[in-house]
Amino acid sequence: MNSPLQPRPGILDISPYVGGDASAEGVNRVIRLASNENPLGPSPKAIEAYTRMQGELHRYPDGGSNDLRDAIAANEGLEQDRIVCGAGSDELISLLVRAYAGPGDEVLYSEHGFLMYPISAKTVGATPVASPEHNLTTDVDELLAQATTRTKLVFVANPNNPTGTYISAEELRRLRRGLPESVLLVIDAAYAEYVAEDDYSAGAELVAESENVVMTRTFSKIHGLASLRLGWAYCPPAVADVLNRLRGPFNVSLAAQAAGVEAIKDSAHIQRSVEHNAKWLTWFNQEVAKLGVEPGNCVGNFALVRFPDPGEKSADAALAYLKTRGILVRAMGGYGLPDCLRVTIGTEDETRSVVEALGKFLK
Ligand SMILES: *Cc1c(COP(=O)(O)O)cnc(C)c1O
Repeated sequence: MNSPLQPRPGILDISPYVGGDASAEGVNRVIRLASNENPLGPSPKAIEAYTRMQGELHRYPDGGSNDLRDAIAANEGLEQDRIVCGAGSDELISLLVRAYAGPGDEVLYSEHGFLMYPISAKTVGATPVASPEHNLTTDVDELLAQATTRTKLVFVANPNNPTGTYISAEELRRLRRGLPESVLLVIDAAYAEYVAEDDYSAGAELVAESENVVMTRTFSKIHGLASLRLGWAYCPPAVADVLNRLRGPFNVSLAAQAAGVEAIKDSAHIQRSVEHNAKWLTWFNQEVAKLGVEPGNCVGNFALVRFPDPGEKSADAALAYLKTRGILVRAMGGYGLPDCLRVTIGTEDETRSVVEALGKFLK
């Protein structure tokens, strides 16, 4: 691309984020298991609220997302003024990086961590640093060993996408204790609602007791509102203040705010979604193990399937085979896991279809 213009350093090093496939040629029925969306969709009350907004499209939204922040605070037992809403948690991740890092700084994340962390680092000319994992799990000692005087932010997705593994609340606290005060620890808890393990915490209490921890959450996964682009961050007051200066004045649409309020209040729908996922993730893992492939140790709404054979029965070949049957899952080469595919837990029917197709492929 020839241009007389020179973007800032780092930007041309970015490989743009590639979302999951949404269509396949030549198949009637497409099963979309590539983006960790909620197969049950959003709360019917959220859809109703969204529809109610159609007469208001000429109005600017409330720039402070006040009703939504009230609803989040009430339902999560948090302080309203420490909550900042964004157009997806992706927006909040990039704002945090913009706020606290620049050229010469380092942004630390773990080896198979969510790709938006290195991408966001490069947008501001900072250097992304990947720290080694063991057993596809965030390793606190490795992160601490990689932290330098140039480190400005550490991102931990907990549980992580795409590995699906998590670290305990105690491990997160140990990470915070071991990092310099001047480093911001960002806990990305996009899949928190799905995790049932006793030693897990999304991280709100660590935010409350520190000046340098942020937790990010999203409405794209459990709440089934990925298309509306809605996320939130729980912050120390000084960080909330910084984000509020940096964000666009109307960064969250009216429809997203209205639907979000109803979604977070609908605990019955959240419960249904959690139970559906737990049941079919367990079933998927059992069935896939019977086929002789490793289903991974995932606590979110997806599985990371590892294919043993680099040849005919490789992950790439499985991806292509599934696609011919209209089943879309996620390739993992971009995450350094080329022998794996990430499979979102779908409806019962979709989950049975992908297992049946994998059975045929592996035969
Ligand atoms: C899906 C996901 C998000 C959510 O992104 P949104 O911008 O809120 O849709 C954030 N972090 C991780 C690790 C994710 O997998």
